[in-house]
Amino acid sequence: MIPAHFKSSVEFDSRHPEALAIYCSDGRFADSIEQLLQQHGFHFHDTINLPGGPGIFDSLTGTYVSAEVMRGCSNFLIQGHKIKSVFLLAHAGCGHYVQKYPGESAEKIREIQLKDMEYARKIILQTNTVEVRKYYVTPVDKHLVFELIP
Ligand SMILES: [Zn+2]
Repeated sequence: MIPAHFKSSVEFDSRHPEALAIYCSDGRFADSIEQLLQQHGFHFHDTINLPGGPGIFDSLTGTYVSAEVMRGCSNFLIQGHKIKSVFLLAHAGCGHYVQKYPGESAEKIREIQLKDMEYARKIILQTNTVEVRKYYVTPVDKHLVFELIP
């Protein structure tokens, strides 16, 4: 039984991370995304997780929250925590996009996701000086493959 007062064994680091990852809420991706950021030298990072991830920056695509909320949250973290690198990640088979674009092919949905990530990148760079990387994530066999999008 979990006690009413739980004390984590993970050591708390009071410094803010220098990276922000914006990706889908889908929990199957979190551990691998953490590993990707560690490969980039970020041992911890801030996150914004909503279904569809970077797609929410586009008010035409977003459905759960407005694009303004997404912009406000990312600006708050980037400026308040002095973030240097932002990672935008979209994934194959994203339920948000499948629901939003019923009947569209996987290729067409990927195209929309890439367009949405580029839009999110531009919005972030309108008000911030940060490095922005875009990745498309695809399950291959039992692992996730991260494709850097130029
Ligand atoms: Zn998703």
